[in-house]
Amino acid sequence: MKRAINFNAGPAAIPQEVLEKAQADMLDWKGTGMSVMEVSHRSKEYEELHNHAQASFKEIAGMGDEWKVIFLQGGASTQFALIPMNFLPEGGSADYLVTGHWSKTAVKEAKRFGKINTISSEKDGVFRSILKPGDIKVDQSSAYVHMTSNNTIFGTQWQDWPDVGSVPLVADMSSDIFSRPFPADRFSLVYAGAQKNLGPSGVVAMAVKEGFLAKAKEDLPSMFSYKVQQANNSLYNTPPCFSIYILDLTLDWIKKQGGLQGMQKVNEEKARILYEAIDSSGGYYDNPVEKASRSKMNVVFRLKSEELEEKFVKEAKAAGIIGVKGHRSVGGIRFSIYNANLVPNVQKSVDFMKDFQKRNG
Ligand SMILES: *Cc1c(COP(=O)(O)O)cnc(C)c1O
Repeated sequence: MKRAINFNAGPAAIPQEVLEKAQADMLDWKGTGMSVMEVSHRSKEYEELHNHAQASFKEIAGMGDEWKVIFLQGGASTQFALIPMNFLPEGGSADYLVTGHWSKTAVKEAKRFGKINTISSEKDGVFRSILKPGDIKVDQSSAYVHMTSNNTIFGTQWQDWPDVGSVPLVADMSSDIFSRPFPADRFSLVYAGAQKNLGPSGVVAMAVKEGFLAKAKEDLPSMFSYKVQQANNSLYNTPPCFSIYILDLTLDWIKKQGGLQGMQKVNEEKARILYEAIDSSGGYYDNPVEKASRSKMNVVFRLKSEELEEKFVKEAKAAGIIGVKGHRSVGGIRFSIYNANLVPNVQKSVDFMKDFQKRNG
């Protein structure tokens, strides 16, 4: 068996330990004589897992009793619509901090539901940095402020969290959740599609403060209502049991790595190795984003021609390094070094980069 060095942007690498546990559990999970996919979501065994995953999420994030964890379907993209549907009151407004493709998409969906103010770091059609503190002037009467903590496509990441005054802060953390400590207290709601840092696709993990959830609208279709989802402990209908199971194992794995402090240490080391290789290449590899905004999760770079980039992707694949082609909207190369990619993978890839440059200098 040969495991790939997997830099896919999402779905992405899952810790090998998690996959091995799932493999061992497959035919007889918890002595049920069934896989987790075959048991009732109303069974004691499943409910235990479901509640354990919620508790782990809160434990890792350092979230107290005022936080509720909800599991949802439809990906982060569905939440782009459900967040304003739930939290934008009639005649109200929300502010969106726009720092990349996904925040732009969130704005597009939110505009269907009310007045959206945007503050954007886009320049000449591209995003090369996050917003500067001085640029962030939030309307204090807004229902909430929405931000994207890491910009998966452009390779930028918030380093310091924005000051939004007393307006509830909502964050799409899909591509860097649990990669580093964050001050949960400053947020009212955080959410992430699991397929980047938390496991497989098919489930969104959302944590919301009780006080903020209390403000959500009531008259919504049940499946779209965060209040209904929470009141039913995310068991209003059949949840994505298998995705939640892998999420739960991944959360256990994160705890074993030393939680968010432990993850941060490894993630900073990976990013340091990779950016150092880029910066010491004499311009052969070029990271187009502002240094202070560089992402530690998605490292993007260009080579001097598209032909050379194509060759890079092809040869990387032949060397067992998968998923390095940049997003179709921006091109170039992208290494998504999420939590499950450990230092040796990054080290081997940097060796490949140096060798490639030597051969194609
Ligand atoms: C991948 C991604 C999304 C889209 O997630 P889906 O689950 O495919 O809808 C949204 N936001 C960010 C920051 C992402 O990285």
